[in-house]
Amino acid sequence: MVVILSWPSDYDRDPSVIYAVDERFRIVRCNPAWDTFALENNGSAAKESKVQGLSLFAVIPQVLSEYYDAGFQVARKEGRWQHDFDCSSARVTRRLRMTVTPFGSGLLFRNVVMKDTLAPPSEAVANFADYGPGINMCSHCRRVENRKANVWQWVPEFIEKVPAEIHSRLCPACWAYHYGDAGGSKETPVPAA
Ligand SMILES: [Zn+2]
Repeated sequence: MVVILSWPSDYDRDPSVIYAVDERFRIVRCNPAWDTFALENNGSAAKESKVQGLSLFAVIPQVLSEYYDAGFQVARKEGRWQHDFDCSSARVTRRLRMTVTPFGSGLLFRNVVMKDTLAPPSEAVANFADYGPGINMCSHCRRVENRKANVWQWVPEFIEKVPAEIHSRLCPACWAYHYGDAGGSKETPVPAA
């Protein structure tokens, strides 16, 4: 049986996405903002009713699972862990700050929007063959590797129309951000709204 702590009604009124997982990282509770966000970004398949019991590690990109695992251990040990991450669509550049705290035998997550702006114009080159075959897309910033020019570029065309063969990778910048020496968040905090 899953035991969760009492769920403050404030969470259900909070415009930020708040959710809880149990000790095995299975999603046990989400606030209404979860559904609003899910419907805007991932469609009805990601609604709370459909993700209950789903392991968080089933949705975390594999290249980032080690990083998040370490972060969750920090949250358990030190009572809190924060991480800024991207959740951009083809049209919107969005950065969220995740705050993870212990919650019963599991963890509580609160994702606050730090930045929500129109996405920049596409950097796509004329010849799309330069990106493939087999598109390497960064799991974090969603840039794709231009293999011919050896650079990672913002090509929202590949987000809107997902190629048949696509590989989840981390671009060098996002690799350094997650696994580099400095690690963790390098952004300056902004005052709470
Ligand atoms: Zn990246």
